[in-house]
Amino acid sequence: DAVISLKNISKRYQMGTETFYALRNISLNIERNDYVAIIGPSGSGKSTLMNILGCLDVPSEGQYLLADQAVATLDEAQLAQIRNQSVGFIFQSFNLLPRASVLANVMQPLVYRMIPTAQRRDMAQQALSRVGLSDKLGHFPNQLSGGQRQRVAIARALVTKPAILLGDEPTGNLDSKTTQDIMKLFDQLHEEGHTIVLVTHEQDIADHCRRVIRLVDGQVAQDSRNDMQTQEK
Ligand code: ADP
Ligand code: ADP
Repeated sequence: DAVISLKNISKRYQMGTETFYALRNISLNIERNDYVAIIGPSGSGKSTLMNILGCLDVPSEGQYLLADQAVATLDEAQLAQIRNQSVGFIFQSFNLLPRASVLANVMQPLVYRMIPTAQRRDMAQQALSRVGLSDKLGHFPNQLSGGQRQRVAIARALVTKPAILLGDEPTGNLDSKTTQDIMKLFDQLHEEGHTIVLVTHEQDIADHCRRVIRLVDGQVAQDSRNDMQTQEK
């Protein structure tokens, strides 16, 4: 049951007379409840791939199915909708609204939906409870630690009940203790059935995931599964 299916995906840029491929002929499926790390050197295409997975960018060639929808056939409005409904983004820099409370930040992805405010508030409270921040609803981002801010961002990603959680270096701004806490949270979300894809350059984080996809020069150089013993470590 593939949530994501990429078939012969390429992304090319025209640099003057040169054609440059940021991604070259990538085919892969990501199954429901998969837990994937995307690794690779700087410039290997990780961000480009994440942007395509998250429908922030479209491939130059190939077919992308997200939750059984062919992304290439969608117009801007439909793309915005699938982005909002099917993808939960988590960024390195949290990307919270500084002047909005924790609760308002988490309600934000629901703003464009025809859902009564009370129900949106319930959904946001549930998501915040899930990440252990029920006591911070009225706080503002600058009153929180980095780890707490990332928990708010994870709650915001969860609130729409997306098909897939996409994290771009989600622990890149966190110290090692906080990184461990956040990875424990991702582990739990995975156990609860979420589908998770994380870009990382940290081996520890790749080891946490079930599957590791390594990009080199815009191609898949490795696609392997961590065995359970690696997980227990
Ligand atoms: P990574 O995230 O692995 O560091 P990126 O996906 O950011 O790699 O970039 C892959 C390659 O594509 C890099 O060589 C980068 O310079 C190039 N690239 C990315 N975006 C563009 C763009 N908008 N125009 C031209 N080249 C780009
Ligand atoms: P990251 O740190 O996530 O790898 P980058 O610094 O590589 O991000 O890229 C930041 C943004 O700049 C991305 O949106 C990427 O597509 C764009 N970009 C990267 N390389 C180039 C390039 N050579 N020409 C134009 N845009 C680029």
